[in-house]
Amino acid sequence: MVDYDVIVAGGGLAGTITAQAISHYSNQNVKILVVDRNTEFFPGRKSLAGWVCGDACSKEAVDYMSDRIKVKWTRPEIEHDVKGVMAFSPDKETAIPFDGAGYMLNRQKLPEIQNERCRKMGIEFEYEINLTGLVYEGQQVVGVQGIDNKTKQSFKKTSKIVIDATGVTSMLRNGLQNSTKVEKRIDRRDLESTGRYIMYFEPGQKDLSEFDPNYCIIHLDQDIAPGGYGWVFPKAENKVNIGLGVEKSLLDLRNKRLGKKDNVESLMKEYLARNVSIKNPKLSEDPQDINNNSGVFQVSVRRQNDCMVSGGYMMVGDSAWMPKPIDAGGIGPALIAGTILGNNVSQALQANDVSEASLWQYNLDYIKEYGYKTAGLELFRRLVQQMTNEQISYGMKHFLGNLDVEAISKGEHPDFTGLGKIGMIIRGAMNKTVADGLRYTSKQNQWLVEHYHNYPKDPTGFDEWNKTLHQRLDESFAKIEVFGK
Ligand SMILES: Cc1cc2nc3c(=O)[nH]c(=O)nc-3n(C[C@H](O)[C@H](O)[C@H](O)COP(=O)(O)OP(=O)(O)OC[C@H]3O[C@@H](n4cnc5c(N)ncnc54)[C@H](O)[C@@H]3O)c2cc1C
Repeated sequence: MVDYDVIVAGGGLAGTITAQAISHYSNQNVKILVVDRNTEFFPGRKSLAGWVCGDACSKEAVDYMSDRIKVKWTRPEIEHDVKGVMAFSPDKETAIPFDGAGYMLNRQKLPEIQNERCRKMGIEFEYEINLTGLVYEGQQVVGVQGIDNKTKQSFKKTSKIVIDATGVTSMLRNGLQNSTKVEKRIDRRDLESTGRYIMYFEPGQKDLSEFDPNYCIIHLDQDIAPGGYGWVFPKAENKVNIGLGVEKSLLDLRNKRLGKKDNVESLMKEYLARNVSIKNPKLSEDPQDINNNSGVFQVSVRRQNDCMVSGGYMMVGDSAWMPKPIDAGGIGPALIAGTILGNNVSQALQANDVSEASLWQYNLDYIKEYGYKTAGLELFRRLVQQMTNEQISYGMKHFLGNLDVEAISKGEHPDFTGLGKIGMIIRGAMNKTVADGLRYTSKQNQWLVEHYHNYPKDPTGFDEWNKTLHQRLDESFAKIEVFGK
């Protein structure tokens, strides 16, 4: 006898959505436990710094979840509505919209409300448990273990399936013992170090490229946020989530280039100070922000884990590296994946088969809905990361047509394969390199999307598929380095 049908490790955003989805698809007939290291008063907190996030999420992703599992998000977990995201080129001469209408969430409030909803569905919680690993029976995961911080005793519970939703630092994934297919470790260059403040301010100069109550603003700039971007997301007319993300090795190069010694914190301060629309900013002391008004955390910007299941084990959200490679948006993919996973788990439990082969469908379903495009976007991100400000500005101004903007707004890789063909004059060697790079990633993207559509239907075809993927990616990453020079 096992203690539960399903244990969800990590009661953050992905964990609670997934628990609700499993409950929904199995008509509340399964026994679910959510285990988290936080106290019940700080549910879903990522680290001591709080629920560090940009707080933005597309309406489309929320609707995807709500329509299927019938969980509606309203106020106060939604703090503010936005019409979309605007990305500005370094010279601010070009702005491209993407992602469509969306919400600014209150990440501290959301898990409180989520947990209340979960409890009403009969989902159980264990708080203050620091999970250290999985429990195995042969090749099968059969539970979780760790330390109960309330009693300082060891903690162990068994289940048919464990869902790993413990976030980007997942110890369960790092130590996974029953799979050679699931990737355990992430390349440091696929991690962004990011931080932000939640603040009230007095209106300064009116400049919609610095603060816009209706749009989330992204500033691409290799001096301000090397290998990442800065953001100014509105939470009210006079309230903002402002922050930035950098890639560490590119920050080092930028510091060397400019003769500076900046780190994420000092860059954040500078970024806030240079904003002409934000006067006299003060960290929010609202009860729903007080434990969450400033902090730094990491986020991954690569394709999702090449395989997301093993016997009795599945992963969702940041533990599976789901945030979108070009903008680090992880809430949308977590909502989509959690919803899908709920259906897959319900079917596996009904079939009474929780083997790797039985859970495999989750890989396929997620790729079909979202994951098919992430490897191409990862490549695109690598290309843009090593461009200069001048190149990014030129590329955004001259190479982005309406169709590309539409593709970007849907989260697809824009198609640059025709660049330079139809009488387009590309001036200068530097800009030719940009055009060549964009054309190259577009071409590789087409191959990658096709390859993901041929993801193996069962575990037996995986090794071959994965070998081909890695060969192509290694080759592409090496080629992209050349475009940066
Ligand atoms: C600065 C920053 C800005 C971002 N901005 C945006 C944005 O604007 N829009 C967007 O869509 N995404 C954004 N993201 C990404 C987004 O925040 C994440 O994708 C999202 O929070 C992932 O949710 P999750 O549930 O997978 O993981 P988490 O939110 O990290 O939740 C994991 C949970 O597991 C618990 N846990 C971890 N380890 C253990 C353990 N060993 N034992 C027990 N419990 C454990 C944690 O305490 C936590 O409760 C941003 C990220 C950062 C860092």
